[in-house]
Amino acid sequence: MSPTTCTPTTTTSTPDASAQVSVVIIGPNLRGEDHKFHVHATGCPELSAHLYRHHHRDTKRPYQVATAREVILTTYDPAVLGYDPDTEWTDYVSEFNFFPCVHWPTTT
Ligand SMILES: [Zn+2]
Repeated sequence: MSPTTCTPTTTTSTPDASAQVSVVIIGPNLRGEDHKFHVHATGCPELSAHLYRHHHRDTKRPYQVATAREVILTTYDPAVLGYDPDTEWTDYVSEFNFFPCVHWPTTT
């Protein structure tokens, strides 16, 4: 049995500012990584990995986002948690593991 792979997706069109990618946000409370989230591109073969077998609902729920910031704002609602979405979202970056299959349309 060959291992699952998690590789960068290829884009066929020129990225533009309004482009979004479809990702899944898995977590928190993954085995061995409490309070961490894993972010994969929708359809990544690694989503069927043993690690995620208790997170089927997460792996089936795609989000359309353009940046890592949007993933964090989606997961940690600034209105609920009371932080500044423009400057304080970076406080949460360390809680997310963005896998190489997630290919952001913009580099900003
Ligand atoms: Zn992946």
